[in-house]
Amino acid sequence: MGKVYLLDVTNRDGVQTAKLGLSKLAKTMINIFLNEMGVFQSEFGFPTTKHESHYLRANLKLAEMGVLKPIRLGGWIRATVEDVERAYKLVPNIKHLQLSISTSDQMITSKFKGAKSKQDILMTVAEAIDAAKSHGAETIGVNAEDASRTDTDFLLQFASVAKEHGADRFRYCDTLGYDNPFTLYKIGKRLAREVGIPIETHCHGDLGMAVANSIAGAMGIIDGGQDAYINTTINGIGERAGNADLVAVILALKNSKGLAKKYKFGMPIRLSMAWRISKYASYAFDVPIPINQPGVGSNAFAHASGIHADGVLKDPENYELYDFKELGRGEPEMVETGREICSGEYGGISGFRHIMGKMEISFEHRDDAQEILELVRYANVLAQKSLVADELRFITRHPDIAKELLTLTPP
Ligand SMILES: [Zn+2]
Repeated sequence: MGKVYLLDVTNRDGVQTAKLGLSKLAKTMINIFLNEMGVFQSEFGFPTTKHESHYLRANLKLAEMGVLKPIRLGGWIRATVEDVERAYKLVPNIKHLQLSISTSDQMITSKFKGAKSKQDILMTVAEAIDAAKSHGAETIGVNAEDASRTDTDFLLQFASVAKEHGADRFRYCDTLGYDNPFTLYKIGKRLAREVGIPIETHCHGDLGMAVANSIAGAMGIIDGGQDAYINTTINGIGERAGNADLVAVILALKNSKGLAKKYKFGMPIRLSMAWRISKYASYAFDVPIPINQPGVGSNAFAHASGIHADGVLKDPENYELYDFKELGRGEPEMVETGREICSGEYGGISGFRHIMGKMEISFEHRDDAQEILELVRYANVLAQKSLVADELRFITRHPDIAKELLTLTPP
C-alpha cells in the first residue's frame, strides 16, 4: 500500500508569487520548520538563479551538518541540459532536482510557438534527466507543467519516458487549478497504474479546490499502487490563488471521513508545528493569516452563537472536529505593549545585548556579540523588518552559515 509524503514548495512556488517574496534567511527558517514538521522534501529554490547560490549552498551545508535532516532539499529547474549544467556549476553538490517542462497542446502551440514538437519535449526531458544523472543527482522529479490540460496519451508517454530514463517521481501539475477531485483521482490512479512511478500532485486554488484535489489525487495514486507526494505551501501561498495549504492537507488526511484508515503518511508528521510555521510564514511574507483559515485562523476555534458555545462547552467534539492543542495552539504568547527594543540595520551593541538577554542569550566577549550583531544588521538589510527570536537564535547558533546566506554579490 502506497503512502502519502509531503513535498512543500513554499520556497519555490511561494516566492514566485506576485508582490511577495522571502529573504534568504526566511527561506532557511522555513526549511528548518518544515524539517521539524516531518515534511519529506522542501523545494528550496532555483539553482540556476545567481542570487540563490549562496543560500542554496549554505542550506546544503546545514543538511550535511545534520541540522536539515532528514528533510531533502530539492532545486527546481527547467528540464533542459543547459539548466542542468548551470545548476551544477552554481550549486555543485545539489542532490535532488525537479526538472520541469510544459506538456499541454495549449503551451506547445501558444508558448513554444512551434519551437518544440511533442517529440522534442520527450527528447528534451530524456536528455535533461540523463545530464542530471551524469552530474550525480540522487533523485529526480520530472514535472509536467499544465498536465491537467495535456492529452492523456501524451502525458502517459511523457511520464513513461521520464521513468525509463531513471526519474524517481512524476509531478502532475494542475498549473491552472483546472482539475476537480474526480478528475484528479482518475488521472492519478491511471498514471500510477499504467506508468508505475511515484506521483506528485501539484494543485492550485483558482477554483478553490487545491486541497480537495490534492487529497483526491493522492487517493487515486495510492489506489493505483504508488506512493503519493502532495505539493503544499505554508498558508497556501503560491502563484495567483495559491497552492494546497500545508496544514489543511494534513488536517484533511488525518480527520476527513474514513480517510486516515486507508491513506497514511509515510513519515511521522508533527502537526503541533502548525501554529508556529503558519505564524512564521505570515510574518515572513507579510501576509496575515485569514481568520477563517483551517486550523490556524483566529476563528478556527472561536464560538459566539449561543447554541454552538453551549455545545462546545459541554463537549468540544460537539462543534470542533479536532483539538486546537494538536496544532500547537493554546500557549500564551508575549506581545509587547510598552517599550520595545527591536533589531534593525542600524542597531547598536547595547540594544542588541538587551534583545538577546531577553531570550536568555549572553555573550562572553564583546567581540562575539559584535560579530553576531553585524550579521543581524545584514539580515535586517535583506529582510527590511525586525527579526524574530527564531531568526536571532539561528544567526547566533550558525554564524558561518548565516554569513554565507546573507552574501549577495551581484556579477
Ligand atoms: Zn505551481
